[in-house]
Amino acid sequence: MTELMLKYFRDKQQKAQSEKIYDTQCPYCSMQCKMQLIEQRVISRKKHKTIGKDNPTSEGRLCVKGMNAHQHALHHDRIKQPLRKINGEFKPVSWEEAYQLITERFQEIQKTDGKDALSVYGSASITNEEAYLLGKFARVGLQTKHIDYNGRLCMASAATGANLTFGMDRGFTNTLAEIPHTRCIILAGTNIAECQPTIMPYFEKAKENGAYIIAIDPRETSTTNLADLHLKNKPGTDVALASGILKILIDLNLIDHEFIQKRTEHFEDVKKYIQSLNLDTIATDTGISLDDLYQTALVFGRESSGMIFTARGVEQQINGTDTVRSFLNLLLVTGKIGKKYSGYGAITGQGNGQGAREHGQKADQLPGYRSIEKEEDRKYIAKVWGIEEQSLPRKGVSAYEMFEKIIDGEITSMFVMCSNPIVSNPNANLIQKALKKLKFLVVVDLFLSETAKLADLVLPTTSYLEDEGTLTNVEGRVMLREASYPIQGEAKHDWEILCDIAQSLGKGAFFNFTNAEEIFEELRIASKGGKADYSGITYERIRKQQGILWPCTESNQAGTERLFESTFAHENGKAKMAVIPIADTKKPSINNEYPLYLTTGRVMSHYLTGEQTRKSPSLAARNFEAFLEIHPDTAELYGIKPDTLVRVTSKKGWIIVRSKWSTSIRKDTVFVPFHWTEKQNVNQLVADTLDPYCQMPGFKMSVVRISPIN
Ligand code: SF4
Repeated sequence: MTELMLKYFRDKQQKAQSEKIYDTQCPYCSMQCKMQLIEQRVISRKKHKTIGKDNPTSEGRLCVKGMNAHQHALHHDRIKQPLRKINGEFKPVSWEEAYQLITERFQEIQKTDGKDALSVYGSASITNEEAYLLGKFARVGLQTKHIDYNGRLCMASAATGANLTFGMDRGFTNTLAEIPHTRCIILAGTNIAECQPTIMPYFEKAKENGAYIIAIDPRETSTTNLADLHLKNKPGTDVALASGILKILIDLNLIDHEFIQKRTEHFEDVKKYIQSLNLDTIATDTGISLDDLYQTALVFGRESSGMIFTARGVEQQINGTDTVRSFLNLLLVTGKIGKKYSGYGAITGQGNGQGAREHGQKADQLPGYRSIEKEEDRKYIAKVWGIEEQSLPRKGVSAYEMFEKIIDGEITSMFVMCSNPIVSNPNANLIQKALKKLKFLVVVDLFLSETAKLADLVLPTTSYLEDEGTLTNVEGRVMLREASYPIQGEAKHDWEILCDIAQSLGKGAFFNFTNAEEIFEELRIASKGGKADYSGITYERIRKQQGILWPCTESNQAGTERLFESTFAHENGKAKMAVIPIADTKKPSINNEYPLYLTTGRVMSHYLTGEQTRKSPSLAARNFEAFLEIHPDTAELYGIKPDTLVRVTSKKGWIIVRSKWSTSIRKDTVFVPFHWTEKQNVNQLVADTLDPYCQMPGFKMSVVRISPIN
């Protein structure tokens, strides 16, 4: 063989075994772990592997979801071109045809039913730029007041609780880096070991350093196993539990008088109410012994520093806002906030749960956490957007309430972006009925989700590997997700789709963007002076600093690591304590017909409605179906054998899931994870009562009956 031929074959072999590395960020939870997709080409086959990449938050760690995220992004079921439903069947159409159809149908509906008949349903998994643009699209492009998003079902009560108490909502008041140094930690209703696994080492280090950890959860989980004390309370009794701890703190004078006097309001009202409570009654109602209540208060009150973390377990309740506020009262009376190693953390669930709630996707909100009802906020944003303030719609209604308005006939069309409301909302049967009633439903998604299947038009979007943009992680750190993977088929970025539709509707002048960074530049201006101020953040700075914690008001300011060190965000600078009456909540209680509490949650291998993770063979293999976690004593009482099918019934509907015996759950409570659909969709059992402050449904507490399926 000649030298030339040898070189030819060497080059060919090298080419056949080439490797490409793509920088990206996990699309799932709020840790937003940085990672790299390695694509190896061996002869004609492509092989993929995801590895972690160092950064200040996840420090290079990945959990099983992140390691397998590429499996859904590269899945052959991805929608690759627009699909229009004709005679009940989806047929591929061009983007031009799709845009023309949207324009015709939207304009027709605006004419016959009014502008507010159009509605927009967003997501907390999209980038900040897309969340910002979606809010603008609804108000400027469609001129409707009806926009809300799936974060309403997730973090709304933590956000509202923090806003009412501190005057501002950034999920973490401190950075993750402070956790290992705090002396006492209360984990209220959070299963971080399953939901945000890469956060765990911060808590493990705290424990190694001598911190005392208290976990509040009706179930034993991998997270409660880390705790020194597990308060296994009855579902829905968190306000009573926090009030009991507060009473002991006050009775034993384990409170910071100077902090209370200088930095807070309404302590005397709270004290008066709390002193009227009876600890024995609280112990009976919560199922927590007096000893454990005292132990919690004594450690938290006496230690020099402490942190409280809440998550969906206490937040997804019909009194979620009150529950969060009752825990924040504990921080305020002990002065454990606004200080080194002391503070609050709402452990956000969705990838961009923080950023997506700041820039205008919520029914009552404008970018930068501005209010759509406040005149000066309206004027400011109208000026940024180049519109008349009078043309800016007022506030609409929350996510679930939009579906009620469809049933009432007030909303007749919906534009859903990257969300699967039919699975994630309570009372799922009503959601299905509502979506079927719409005159025109457009869904933007990666897959033909359960919601997309009901659409008239489905538009293919890009995945996390292909779509660049910023996301704000659990700490409030604005991170840039790089994305350079080739786009699949004819899919377009969410922001591109919005700009194109706006153009087709004659509003293109307001949506003149050619990349995500240009949208971020407008978002910076729109957020300037707002509570969530991003004006000092640029893509270049994020790249250099590996993320910047908001508020960041100047281009030479490093960002804000710790909030409330000298002042809270209310006008008078003080935090507002709140009287939270225990008896106020009309929660469902068990009775002869429905004798068990039902609580819902996640498993490690799945994310939200499972639309993406169920597509990943490695993740689906770990949990391929929903299950009913039940105490063996309870199971025997109802004749339910292990690993057998069980019918679970509430007032709203019924599901069938397989039993899983476990002594780690209370005997009066059963648990079902929420990542499955149809007859395994546990949200069909959840009632439609909403938290009065933030309209959060009560996912964490329903009452049910169970029976074996023979
Ligand atoms: Fe990290 Fe969360 Fe993704 Fe796991 S799911 S890799 S913890 S971002």
